[in-house]
Amino acid sequence: MVLIGWHGSGELIWRLNPAYRTTRLYCDSSWWQTEEYQRDDEGKVTQIKFANGPRYVDPVGFVTRAIPSGGMFDPTLGLCGPDAEDHDLSDAITNRGLNVITFCPSVWKAGHPVTIPQQLADPTRIPPFPIGDLDSLTWTFFHEYTHLVGASIFFPEGVIDVKNNRGGMCYGFPECSFLGGSRLATINADNYVLLALASYLYMYDWSDGTCRIP
Ligand SMILES: [Zn+2]
Repeated sequence: MVLIGWHGSGELIWRLNPAYRTTRLYCDSSWWQTEEYQRDDEGKVTQIKFANGPRYVDPVGFVTRAIPSGGMFDPTLGLCGPDAEDHDLSDAITNRGLNVITFCPSVWKAGHPVTIPQQLADPTRIPPFPIGDLDSLTWTFFHEYTHLVGASIFFPEGVIDVKNNRGGMCYGFPECSFLGGSRLATINADNYVLLALASYLYMYDWSDGTCRIP
């Protein structure tokens, strides 16, 4: 288990579950432990085996579940196998109920930037550059963090990955700008990432999704 960060102020409050839970960030899914035996009300392991085989345990909250994150769990890929709704490997998974973000193997791939590669956004040197190509670990973290924080603001659904009309997810500029002006834009995670990026690189005009001199 590698714990790489705690939320700065320690805790977020939840409308869905009015209790404080410390935010945790993990760089892989190895923090989930398998457990063969049920626990009692005080969290102590009993001699009673789970009927359907071992379950996964959050060692901090002692929450047990059959599958850590819906259909995305694939033991051979870490926590981040594709699922029925999203056929790509995930860069990270957020468990809102546990207040945990787990990064996936694909986010650590060689050549994937950690910080925003803002040197690419230079319209005097590089022809109009798509904002979506500023993908980075920063992008992934911010995207996932909106899922956590949004759960306490946009009741009841929180900030999610809105589905497009082809059954995919609204990721990236074309999909997010299509939501622009609707309430769905306020609950779609990548819309916040793009707003943050355009605000950070405020010296350029990003209105058509590419980097231009204003
Ligand atoms: Zn998401």
